[in-house]
Amino acid sequence: MRKNDFLISVVVPCYNEEKNIPLMIDELQKHLRAYRYEVILVDDGSSDDSSDLCERLYGEITEVNYIRFARNFGHQAALQAGITCANGEAVVTIDADLQQPPSVIPAMVKCWLDGHEIVEAIPEYTDSIGWFKKYTSYIFYWVLNKLSDYPVVKKANDFRLIDRKVADEVGRLKENHLYLRGFFSWVGFNKGFVHYDHKKRINGETHYPFYKMVRLALNGITSMSVRPLRLALILGSIVSLIAFAIICWALYLAVFTERTIAGWTSTIVSTLFLAGIQLLVLGIMGEYLGKLFIENKQRPNYIIRDKCIRNTVKDIEHSTSKTTLIEQGV
Ligand code: UDP
Ligand code: MG
Repeated sequence: MRKNDFLISVVVPCYNEEKNIPLMIDELQKHLRAYRYEVILVDDGSSDDSSDLCERLYGEITEVNYIRFARNFGHQAALQAGITCANGEAVVTIDADLQQPPSVIPAMVKCWLDGHEIVEAIPEYTDSIGWFKKYTSYIFYWVLNKLSDYPVVKKANDFRLIDRKVADEVGRLKENHLYLRGFFSWVGFNKGFVHYDHKKRINGETHYPFYKMVRLALNGITSMSVRPLRLALILGSIVSLIAFAIICWALYLAVFTERTIAGWTSTIVSTLFLAGIQLLVLGIMGEYLGKLFIENKQRPNYIIRDKCIRNTVKDIEHSTSKTTLIEQGV
């Protein structure tokens, strides 16, 4: 394929990124000059000027398109919406804050042209994120990969290129609580990798403080695997066995000996221990039950307030096939 034989879609989720969006567009223009491309800015219910900025940039730059959500639905939903509306033969997802440099995209495109249907860009962290985030992220991937049947690429952070075939599968996803990193490990296809230096955020703050990271991690684990339920069962069984042995011992002492257990400590320790285990198991079950409850409502993952996506290859193909059907009298 020659450089102009295909269209590249670049999906950029934006949540309060008014200062970063223009810089991002400049960078994309600089590095994608040699290609035919479209940019899809997905405004995820921003409260700053990002929303108006998307509209303004759409008016000024032919490559820029936008989707605006009715409220904040989260990063994963924004990615899904952008991928679903993208027209390109290859779709790149990249954060708006320039921590993932657009200069890497040509290397990703090359890897795709070499036959990889999913190209993951793997960050090398120097001082771009704090040690706490770095190490908790390592621990999370380690736990996730121990629990999941489909290993997730370590350090993957949603900077990737996917082929049209894969993008179409994202459009078919019905599940709420989407965890795209898990989905891309499950979906199969041929994977390639490029590495890049992860940069510091230029403007603004991360939207993923610790509690949101924990939420994403829990979602990742529970949407990828039911092994925690099995672990809960094993843990419950082991603790029940131990408790049974202690009961037998206590009964033996009470019936056959003069010694009775006079310890408050042993009573309180075992009670708290058992209560703790029970709550843990109940919590794990509750997590899955809550998910079932939400999934059962079958609400969409996001609501689009408005979108402006220019007609490109895909739309032209659609309208051609419609015309053909009309001409044939269908
Ligand atoms: N983002 C979003 N919706 C949200 C939170 C974040 O669309 O609810 C976007 C954000 O604008 C950025 C990307 O997702 O483009 C990654 O967010 P952030 O940089 O805050 O995450 P971090 O890099 O710190 O993990
Ligand atoms: Mg970031």
